[in-house]
This record gives sequence, C-alpha cells and structure tokens, in this order.
Amino acid sequence: MTPRPLLPVAAPSLAGNERAYVLECLDSTWISSNGRYLDAFEAAFARFCGVSHAVAVNNGTAALHLALTALGIGPGDEVIVPDLTYIASVNAVTYCGAKPVFVDSEPETLNVDPDQIAARITSRTRAILPVHLYGHPADMDPILDLAERHNLIVVEDAAEAHGASYRGRPVGSLGACAAFSFYGNKIITTGEGGMVVTDDAALAARLRLYRGQGVDPQRRYIHPVVGFNYRMTNIAAAIGLAQLERVEEILTARRQIATWYAERLAGINGLRLLGAESWAVPVPWLITVLLTEGAARERDAVMAALLAEGIDSRPVFHPMHDQPPYYENIRYPVAETWSARGLNLPTFEALTQADVTAVCAALRRALTELGAP
Ligand SMILES: *Cc1c(COP(=O)(O)O)cnc(C)c1O
Repeated sequence: MTPRPLLPVAAPSLAGNERAYVLECLDSTWISSNGRYLDAFEAAFARFCGVSHAVAVNNGTAALHLALTALGIGPGDEVIVPDLTYIASVNAVTYCGAKPVFVDSEPETLNVDPDQIAARITSRTRAILPVHLYGHPADMDPILDLAERHNLIVVEDAAEAHGASYRGRPVGSLGACAAFSFYGNKIITTGEGGMVVTDDAALAARLRLYRGQGVDPQRRYIHPVVGFNYRMTNIAAAIGLAQLERVEEILTARRQIATWYAERLAGINGLRLLGAESWAVPVPWLITVLLTEGAARERDAVMAALLAEGIDSRPVFHPMHDQPPYYENIRYPVAETWSARGLNLPTFEALTQADVTAVCAALRRALTELGAP
C-alpha cells in the first residue's frame, strides 16, 4: 500500500497570471529590482491596504527592520512587542540596537493584551509593535490611544493578516506604517518578499532611501545614511501582482475552509478554536486549535497522531521570553499556557472539504485516544 501523500499545513496556489508574468520578466530581461511589475505591485498593494504608499522589500523581516530604522528606532530605545509572536517581530527590534519589551496575550485570540501594555511603558519606550496573529487583528484602538498619550509610534506587524480589517479599517492602515510578508506560507506569496505600507509620504521616502543602500535619489553614489539592500526583484513582484489579482478569491476559499473546520470541530470535546472578536474581520491564515486540557506533551501527541495519518500540523509559536536570546525568568501565563496547547492545522486555498473532514476525524480520534472527556 502506498502511503497517502502528506497533507501539508500550507501550500501556495499559483493558478493565475504568475507564470505568464514571470515569463514576461525573463523574455524582457527585467529580472532585477526595477521594472513594471514592481511599480504595479506596489501601487496595487497600497490600494489593497487603503493607504497611499507601499515599498516592496525582499522579505517580511526586512520590512519590519526597514520600518523601525526609517522611524529612527535605535540603541537605548525600547519597543513593546507581544511575547507570543513569530521571532521576526522581535529580532527586527534587536537589529536596530533597541530592546524588545514583552507583553502577554489575551486568552481569546492570543493577540497582545492592550490592558497590560501601559505597565511596561518607560521613559525609553519609543514604539509599540502589535502583531495581527494568525490573521486576527490586534485590538488597535486602545493601543493607538495609549500611543497617543505617551507619544509612541505604532508599527503593525501584518505579516499574517493580508485583507483583515479592524472596526472597518484595513490592517496596514492603522499605525504609522505596517509590515507584510509574502513568504511561501502566507496569505499571498512572492516566494520570499515583504512590503511596508504607509500614508506618510515623508516616511515612504525614508523607507525607499534605506531600502536602496541609502543612496541620495538625486546624486548617484552619494549615501547620506547607512542603508541596506532590501530590494525586491521584478520577478518576485510579478508573482505578487498575479497573487494580488486573485486575493479576494484566495480569501473566499480560506473563509470557506475556516467554516468547514468550525462546523466539524464544534462537536469535538477537549479543544476550542482560536476566538474571533465581533469588531474584527479576521483572515484565516492558519486555523488554530487549542486543547482545553493538558499541555505541550498532549499537544505533541496529537500532532504525532495526525502525522501518522498523513496530516502535517504546527505547534503554536513559542513565547519570546523563553527563547535563548531573549530569556527572562518572568511569567507570561497566557502565552505560556496556550502556546503549549495550540496547534495549526492545514489551511490553504486548494484544501478540499474532504481534506478538512479527514483532518477533523483524525483530530477526534487522537483526542479520544488521549482520553479527552
Ligand atoms: C512570517 C512573519 C514575519 C516575517 O516574514 P518573512 O517574510 O518570513 O521574513 C514577521 N512577523 C510575523 C508575525 C510573521 O508571521
């Protein structure tokens, strides 16, 4: 018997104009970091986020680093970040020579808890970096209020949330600027890629300056600042533009998949889906379930049982305060508890209803074997 091919957690869908546009780059020889796809992708992505400027870069981590650099974050500064996130959010702060200061999550969506931010603001705090985790917007109004009261900058990490909105406003349009990722497992992809979006023309100009080695736009080989090479290629932008042309289709497919999961998981004891707030329109990046009992050991056993049935999954991110470079002997109880009990299930456009049924049936069997009530 041939084993069933592994059902992955994520898989890009490249069924639109991706191939035609990439071939056009090759045929025209516009394969480096200038070209019509770059201009078109930036313009279309800015529109998608409801802002006036978008600056394409070579990955989402670079987008975050570029944003913080262009905003002047540097040594001696502190930036408030969620304890529960992907490590790139925090590393970008460290690259600037600034100090990440962690805040625990709220238990419903696992996003940063706005009520715990104030206690972590000091005279050195310069910015707050909320993350829209797994596609669900962070509760931005209290964060923006706090930022205004304490004169702090807000940078959104929207790497997992293309197309989500908060109280009717698209993510990416809520802070001073926002960073997106187009890594292969994200909502839309360019292979590797990222974008910074902003409504601030002066900030957009600084982002472009730092993206391209800090070269003076008027004087070739004169570099007023130490910049980076964070440019995106026209080939990557060609893929991105084709993806963006289909983004509503991709989001509709993902929402359908989320509905299938919600229906099938509702009857299973011992787990809950990550919550959604009434004020949010989330986008299902990776469907996330949380075991209501037990801990990492049971979660890992469930993942192993799924894998034995040919279904891949991922553990929820591990808290930043427990990573070797950022270790703190302080408790972040919500992040610790739910990250240990959480797993992400396959979520991608081509997933079928039968796939979702199979994943949920395997999950039910795994939990029953573990003795869930
Ligand atoms: C993926 C991701 C990033 C980084 O994006 P890359 O393109 O992989 O560098 C940053 N923050 C979060 C929350 C992410 O999920």
